Amino acid sequence: MNDLSRSEPTGLLFIVSAPSGAGKTSLVKALVEHDPGLALSVSCTTRPAREGEQDGVHYHFLDRERFEREIGEGAFLEHAEVFGNLYGTRVADVRRRLDAGRDVLLEIDWQGARQVRERFPEAIGLFVLPPSIEELERRLRGRGTDSDDVIARRMAQARDELAHFAEYGYLVVNDRFETALAALAAIVTAERQRLAYQRPRLATLLDPIESIT
Ligand code: GDP
Ligand code: ADP
Ligand code: 5GP
Repeated sequence: MNDLSRSEPTGLLFIVSAPSGAGKTSLVKALVEHDPGLALSVSCTTRPAREGEQDGVHYHFLDRERFEREIGEGAFLEHAEVFGNLYGTRVADVRRRLDAGRDVLLEIDWQGARQVRERFPEAIGLFVLPPSIEELERRLRGRGTDSDDVIARRMAQARDELAHFAEYGYLVVNDRFETALAALAAIVTAERQRLAYQRPRLATLLDPIESIT
């Protein structure tokens, strides 16, 4: 499933992590909107839906009992407890899309990223940094979706998340939004020009060339 050298085109797996409030959701949303080849994986979570969040669109909202049952059934590629809630990515969703040659983007925390790397060492890690810790807090407050104690908890966890930046191959600072978005898009574009990705997709062009030599 994850052997990019075989003749069937397989998609790329991107992992985007960032401390809460760094702008990851906004950036990923914009990235996916501009790139139909990139499928955003919809995570499962036990956290309650925020105002405006739809089941099956932003998350699959599951109760803890169902989530834990699915963990037992091996349904998750990765799962982690973040801010007291369970979050996870269903393996079947990811596998189906990669096997169909589509690129998949996971917006997950560092604990989940570690689990994914164990099973997909070729997954491409991108870490989004805020321009400063002060700006991170300002954005969390500005978003207006979380209460004061939730913000305090997210700020404490943000420092933990930030400490894992070196586990990712790419670092993108989200200072000016459009600049950060362009950087993310450039990484996706560059990864798609790699030999292992291009070879099965360009077989019609490359096979005759290879047969010459
Ligand atoms: P959600 O995924 O539905 O929570 O939405 P987002 O996290 O993508 O965006 C939340 C809000 O932030 C929306 O009202 C966006 O228009 C706004 N937003 C997105 N990008 C920027 C930006 O660069 N600067 C500012 N100030 N606001 C932004
Ligand atoms: P995350 O998913 O990482 O928690 P969000 O995408 O929800 O972050 O962004 C947190 C807040 O910061 C949102 O209100 C968003 O609009 C805002 N934001 C995102 N990027 C920028 C930016 N470059 N400059 C200013 N505000 C931003
Ligand atoms: P939020 O509640 O703000 O949407 O997300 C909180 C945190 O959970 C973020 O750090 C986000 O990366 C992480 N998260 C969201 N979905 C998943 C997932 O499927 N798996 C893991 N491991 N973390 C996730």
